[in-house]
Amino acid sequence: MLRLYNTMTRQKEDFIPIKNGKVSMYSCGPTVYNFAHIGNMRTYIFVDSLRRVLHHNGYKLNGVMNITDVGHLESDSDTGEDKMQATAKRENRSPYEIADFYTGVFFDDLKKLNIQTPEHTPKATDYIKEMIEFVKALENKGYAYQTSDGIYFDISKFEDYGKLSKINLDEQIAGARVEVNQEKRNPYDFALWKKAPKEHIMQWQSPWGMGYPGWHIECSALGKKFLGDVFDIHSGGVDHIPIHHENEIAQSEALLEKPAVNYWMHSEFMMVNNGKMSKSLGNTYTVSDLEKMGYDPMDFRYFCLNTHYRKKLNFTFEGLEGAKVARKRLCEQINAHMLSQNNDSIDIEKYYKEFDDAVNDDINIPLALGVLWTALKEPKSKKVYDFGMYADEVLGLRLKECAQEIKEQNQDDNDIPMEIQELAKKRLEAKKSKNYALADELRNNITQQGYNIIDTSQGYKITKS
Ligand code: AMP
Ligand code: ZN
Repeated sequence: MLRLYNTMTRQKEDFIPIKNGKVSMYSCGPTVYNFAHIGNMRTYIFVDSLRRVLHHNGYKLNGVMNITDVGHLESDSDTGEDKMQATAKRENRSPYEIADFYTGVFFDDLKKLNIQTPEHTPKATDYIKEMIEFVKALENKGYAYQTSDGIYFDISKFEDYGKLSKINLDEQIAGARVEVNQEKRNPYDFALWKKAPKEHIMQWQSPWGMGYPGWHIECSALGKKFLGDVFDIHSGGVDHIPIHHENEIAQSEALLEKPAVNYWMHSEFMMVNNGKMSKSLGNTYTVSDLEKMGYDPMDFRYFCLNTHYRKKLNFTFEGLEGAKVARKRLCEQINAHMLSQNNDSIDIEKYYKEFDDAVNDDINIPLALGVLWTALKEPKSKKVYDFGMYADEVLGLRLKECAQEIKEQNQDDNDIPMEIQELAKKRLEAKKSKNYALADELRNNITQQGYNIIDTSQGYKITKS
């Protein structure tokens, strides 16, 4: 039985989907005004693990991840400039060009990290009509009011406001800063639609004049559009709990008069040196940055999988280096089992069961990885390799490919005479101790004997010339 931790109830619950054998799931996606950093990627790796575990349990998935290309303001409390517009101005390009470019990089990064693309990845600007309809419906039901700069949701009309984050509104309001927007009825009221000044680049015709949607309405409208009124799972990073998801709940439940989501799931943040990851601190990295430093995206995936999604994960290069070394060993082990005969003395069934129990206990991937490592310690056997392949359907570490690479590498090594391999080893040592003259001399020696040496992220590779 699959059990998932529901942020709404603060406990693990049996997962029972609305429709037998099917899962509908919404995951908040990126705002495409910038490169996604590895902290964002941790959240998407979690979404991928969740999807893979659901699939592992035989469910057919219908997943949505939105691409925010309008309406996400610099502050989550409806102030500041639209992030897309700010970048467009800075880079002197249109917001659509900016969105296309960063969306492309985002999908490339997902591919590199072996994250499966959800079934639907709608971009907000393609669904302005649906968002306007949603806001109109809220207005008709008396939940919205107009100010000089937009249409706002009146949270005093929605009794359950704050139920996800369990905030005490009265206490919060008492301690809050002076409200910037004096026209709002309640400090927690949020924009459903913003009226656009003439110079605002992105704007659409609406019943309230020219304007653009608020960020929160996007997710409520797209969830309804692609998954229907009520769906199974909604996920996002923990930062979304207090504002974005609270607002989504208010909008959707106000319209529907019942909850729209059955399970709320949130992944914890990635930190750097136990602090925040942010551009201004110069400590954000992208997947490409890590590649330039000689890491395979799978090293980063392995690094993330080692910590449960509800725990904070502190990023350090020592940690990533450890993941790189461990993953290489994992691939070597898988390769060794791949090349062996079946060994009947191994009780492999227990590993299958332990693995399933781990992933079904609120997506406990670190524990499941541990089960794989234990199985790999068994005598070399094709059975263990088969179990590794089964596990990798969930882990997504491309274990088959990396075991194959190791096999090919070893075969190449077998074709190279021992003395050439010795010279190459000495050259690597010379390079490490910065004795470049000796390293060059050794390379010349190797070349003269009819072989080439190519430096790689793993060390070097020798080929016949
Ligand atoms: P954004 O593009 O800013 O809307 O963020 C995209 C996703 O990344 C959201 O689901 C955030 O919750 C998540 N996120 C942002 N920063 C981090 C971080 N440091 N660690 C993990 N997830 C993050
Ligand atoms: Zn969202």
